Amino acid sequence: MGDEERSRQSGAPPTESVAATVDAPATVDAPAADVTDEQYVVIGGPERKAERTNVVVMKFGGSSVADANCIKRVANIIVEARKAGHPVVAVVSARGDTTDELIEMAKEISADPPAREMDMLLSTGERISAALLAMAIHDLGYDAISLTGSQAGIVTDTVHTKAKILDIKPGRIRKALDENKIVLVAGFQGVSTTQDVTTLGRGGSDTTAVALAAALGAEVCEIYTDVEGVFTTDPRVVPEARKLDTISNEELLELAASGAKVMMARGVEVARRFDVPLHIRSSFTSAPGTWIGQDDPSMEQAIVSGVTYALDDAKVTIHDLPDKVGVAAKIFTTLANAHVNLDVIIQNVSAGGTTDISFTASEDDLPKISRILGELQGELGFTSFDTDKEVAKVTLVGAGMKTYPGVAAKMFEVLAENGINIEMISTSTIKISCVIRKQHVETAVKALHAAFRLHKGMVSREEVFG
Ligand code: ADP
Ligand code: ASP
Ligand code: MG
Repeated sequence: MGDEERSRQSGAPPTESVAATVDAPATVDAPAADVTDEQYVVIGGPERKAERTNVVVMKFGGSSVADANCIKRVANIIVEARKAGHPVVAVVSARGDTTDELIEMAKEISADPPAREMDMLLSTGERISAALLAMAIHDLGYDAISLTGSQAGIVTDTVHTKAKILDIKPGRIRKALDENKIVLVAGFQGVSTTQDVTTLGRGGSDTTAVALAAALGAEVCEIYTDVEGVFTTDPRVVPEARKLDTISNEELLELAASGAKVMMARGVEVARRFDVPLHIRSSFTSAPGTWIGQDDPSMEQAIVSGVTYALDDAKVTIHDLPDKVGVAAKIFTTLANAHVNLDVIIQNVSAGGTTDISFTASEDDLPKISRILGELQGELGFTSFDTDKEVAKVTLVGAGMKTYPGVAAKMFEVLAENGINIEMISTSTIKISCVIRKQHVETAVKALHAAFRLHKGMVSREEVFG
């Protein structure tokens, strides 16, 4: 595969070579609060942007390293970039379904395994990929070193299985690059400020890659996956889905946050804050992918850019909650303190002094939610609560929604025409989400994609609304 074909043209300013100075090697024993060195990039606080270099950070997802052939293909992609003169840092995910298999393994042992031990277990998948890829690169005649998240200087908070990156200490990576090594980093993991292994949540290798690109001032962060870029919807559900050449940061953030697996939302946030040029592309073809945040401001905005769906949400309903000041605050503060992320929340009108509240949350958090609500029931005096895993969320995202009224009405109409009942609705300036029955999700996504003419690119208002 030629270097010209895998073009890295991003319109980025001319680059300079990576700094020769090296900071102290990353260690596991320096808490984030102690970080003062100029070269440290603080992700969680007031950030310092690193000077742009010609380092390329690449990230390869699970399907890109699924078997020996895939790993050899990826080794070649990395070596090509190296031959073109780029120092390369490659972040890798666990192979194929490894992370799911590790989660299953834990479930066979325990119904509610300690989160710290889950992280010890889950972090192994990425280490396997990094070591194997280092071996493949050695075989191509290049020096390579694999590093765990901790060795790579990724410092996180202490929230096991959902940790957030606080700092990156890129000293050890810089030293290896200065020694002409290709650096492989195990994605999705770091070391906490209390020196425990942490993981960053599903899809977390995307965030590892973007954060490292920020810390190293990389010329570009390339997210290699099994599709050619960001599409108008999941191309596995709608074959007519169209690849987008560019997409704004805010739209990708909404797509990612509402279920488009192609990129983890936190990675998009870090890319935006640190101005990391982001290119999402396929590791199976050399075709250019989707560039993020590089839209042409002179262009008319699409009314809708994409449709997403999320299947791993569950709906929780609390019945007959006394309609008193502070009751909702108590419930949601307790859930937040337990690191439960909530999504859509609705409260019904009060009848006879009581009300029902429903919300959605990740299915994985259901055991925790049930425990917390069980504990609060006596104190708050609600009659019961139930949980429902058979829900899904479909979302329309589009910056053009700000200026085109009627998108929500059209969405509800399309769902109604297909006999799909809407159970919950939530909106922001550039997205509309509906919670529906899980069994209808494919029909909903296909119908919405067709109704908003997403396969066609830029369409007029008349074409969509008639
Ligand atoms: P990786 O293992 O490379 O991280 P993921 O499976 O996490 O890959 O994400 C890639 C998958 O995301 C694709 O295979 C595709 O099915 C899915 N996907 C969902 N929505 C979109 C979208 N809008 N554009 C592209 N891919 C999408
Ligand atoms: N292996 C982890 C997961 O499956 C992290 C990642 O792939 O980004 O979620
Ligand atoms: Mg992923």
